[in-house]
Amino acid sequence: MKVHALIRVAACAVSLHAGLSFAASGTSDAAASANAQPSYSTASDQIRFGNAALFRNLIPSATLEQQSADEYAQILGEARRTKHLLADDNPLVKRAREIANREIPFALKWNDRSKNWKWEINVVRSDEIRMYCLPGGKIVIYSGLIDRLRLNDNELGMMIGHEIAHALREHARDRLGRQQAAQLSTGTIPPLFGFADISSTPLGIGEQLLAMRYTPADETEADVIGSEIASRAGYDPRAAITLWQKIDSRTRRTPNGFIWMHPYGAARVHDLMKRLPDMMPLYAKAIGKTVDQLPNYAGMGRFKKPRL
Ligand SMILES: [Zn+2]
Repeated sequence: MKVHALIRVAACAVSLHAGLSFAASGTSDAAASANAQPSYSTASDQIRFGNAALFRNLIPSATLEQQSADEYAQILGEARRTKHLLADDNPLVKRAREIANREIPFALKWNDRSKNWKWEINVVRSDEIRMYCLPGGKIVIYSGLIDRLRLNDNELGMMIGHEIAHALREHARDRLGRQQAAQLSTGTIPPLFGFADISSTPLGIGEQLLAMRYTPADETEADVIGSEIASRAGYDPRAAITLWQKIDSRTRRTPNGFIWMHPYGAARVHDLMKRLPDMMPLYAKAIGKTVDQLPNYAGMGRFKKPRL
């Protein structure tokens, strides 16, 4: 069954590759220029962003979700075997699950399939600074992310929101579709995420996997949608600024590190700041305050409403 699905994907990529390569580069350019001023609206209290990419259609959602579920089971099995899987009653696990479970109800509107996802959240003991939400809603957090960066709940909320947003918008499916089109001879879908070294035995390392990197357009989309989800769940959107500063300073020198996978620079900081006026009212409402009542956060000063 799985083999047939993979063959179908490969065949599909063969027939569409020539036609799509031009269209995709056009789309990419369009996305890059649109990135400066993406369309969104708060008029209906609903922030909008982006369009589905062409390449993700090369791999059916159901195929990728099944593959991700298999990979998730492997990652958990290996972590359990090597005693790296934190137990359900571990405080880090409880904390991560509470935050994610507060956010998930606000995530579902961004992807119809996500209403049927079997969401799961687990934490693996590791020095790695890393987390991901696999297609299908399987979330893995490496404890180094929380411990080494000393993330507060607002920062962890923004982090989980960002990763959920990548899954909702199927960015990995898009990236994989591009790889599939470019590497037709392999005939398999490479493992996506399971390459973090949680023990002496690395999990599923592959060249294609290590080459996976989100685009700046993906990052902006995940920032906007993730921040919206987390703000509605009651996490301070200003925490995204301190979160990404911490990640950048601690993983910049790591080959294929977390910040490499999630490209970060002055433009992203600027975009994060620019979105705050949209996000702060959502956050204030979620915690039963007005924007003017919100306290200072991390030396950024009290939030001032822009003059209209
Ligand atoms: Zn990202």
